[in-house]
Order: sequence, then C-alpha cells, then structure tokens
Amino acid sequence: MTERSFRDVEYNYQLINEQIAQAAFKSGRKREDITFLAATKTVDTEIINHAISLGLDHIGENKVQELLQKYERYDLSRCSLQFIGHLQTNKVRQIVDKVDLIQSVDSFKLASEISNRSLKCGKTTDILVEVNIGREENKSGVFEENLTELLCQIAQLDGVKVKGLMTIPPICEDKHKISKYFYNMHKLFIDISEKKLDNVSMTILSMGMSSDYQEAILEGANMVRIGSALFGARIYT
Ligand SMILES: *Cc1c(COP(=O)(O)O)cnc(C)c1O
Repeated sequence: MTERSFRDVEYNYQLINEQIAQAAFKSGRKREDITFLAATKTVDTEIINHAISLGLDHIGENKVQELLQKYERYDLSRCSLQFIGHLQTNKVRQIVDKVDLIQSVDSFKLASEISNRSLKCGKTTDILVEVNIGREENKSGVFEENLTELLCQIAQLDGVKVKGLMTIPPICEDKHKISKYFYNMHKLFIDISEKKLDNVSMTILSMGMSSDYQEAILEGANMVRIGSALFGARIYT
C-alpha cells in the first residue's frame, strides 16, 4: 500500500516538475524561477517525507490542528514549512514559531497578531497578502481596491515582512476564465511592485493548484501550490 503510494508520488513529482519546467519556459523563464509548494493537507508525514526525499523543498498546511499534530514528524532539514489556509487570530501563537511563511493574511488585525507573536519569539515572519480576485462572497482575501491601503498598514508592523501576494480564484471549468483571473492577479502584482511601497517586497506571486498550475505559470505565477496532482485524491477521515 505504502510502496505503491511512494511510487505514485515519485511518478507524479517528476511529471509535475516537467510540466512546471515547460510552462516556465513558455513564459520566458526557467524551472528554477518557479517554486513548487506541496499542499499536504490529509497526507501522512511518511508520504510527505518521501516527497521531500525526492527534492521537494516547500510544503504548506492549511489547518492549525493538523500542522501541530504532524509537526514533530516532518523532515524539515531541507524543506520550508508554510501555512496556506485561513488563519484565525487566536491560533496564530500556536504556529508562528514553526512556519517560515504565512500565505493567507487578509486583515490588519491578523497581521498585527502575527507581528506581535513573532516579536515575542524573537523573529520576523514572512507573509503574503491574500487577494480575493474573483470578488467572491464568503471567501477569504482582500478586494483589490483595498490592497494598497492594507499593505501600507501592514508595512508599519515590525514583526512581519510582506513578500508578495497569493490568491485562490473561483472554481471554473473554463480555462480562459481562470487564465483571466491569473492575468489580473499578475497585473496587480506588477502595479504594486511599481509603487515601491516602503517595507513591502513583491517577490512571490502564489497562485495555481493541481488543475490549473500551468495556466497560472503562463500568466506569471512564481509559486504554485499543488496537492492532489502529487499525492492523489484526498481522503478525508
Ligand atoms: C489544498 C490546497 C491547495 C492544493 O489543492 P489541489 O487542488 O489539491 O492541488 C492549494 N492551496 C490551498 C490554499 C489549499 O488549501
């Protein structure tokens, strides 16, 4: 069972890397310009560590409880652990000393809490600001018209450093539609870069998942978050 999963992960890992390389090349970049982060929710640490042994160097969890349960068992000697899910303010202190980057910051309140808790453990935490590019109700992320103001507020905080933007676009079958959301995100990323806001660096543009990471890269993503294409369909228990 596990042998089989290991082999599937090896196959998928290689295939994804090739497809990332192709999309990078088509968009005038190199494989190394794109970061492959594995979204590891519901995946056993045995399997995650196998992927790490193949060369995977970024993983992301999206639930605090699950991250804490698995934390002792990840092999993080050559791998960055990130938080990619919706984060409640009252849970920040449980993970802030454990993660290298928090991808899903969409309010000043959350950023302040991350900053305060980071300073308390003697670090600064890199963050991405999440944008709700599809303007969906009940979805995390800031609307684009409020992004600059939020970035300027967060830039005042000593315990966090903004490194870029992330988004989860609306689910759509139509590849042209999804590409348009990615295009709009990239445009926003460039617009913000050009503003040269103090203390805000636009280095990472995190977008694209299993079903659309090639489209995301073609539109300018430099980090993709891939779960099921690497580990197989998720089994929720
Ligand atoms: C689960 C998850 C992903 C990956 O989803 P797949 O469709 O399985 O690739 C990416 N980003 C976030 C925030 C996730 O929670």
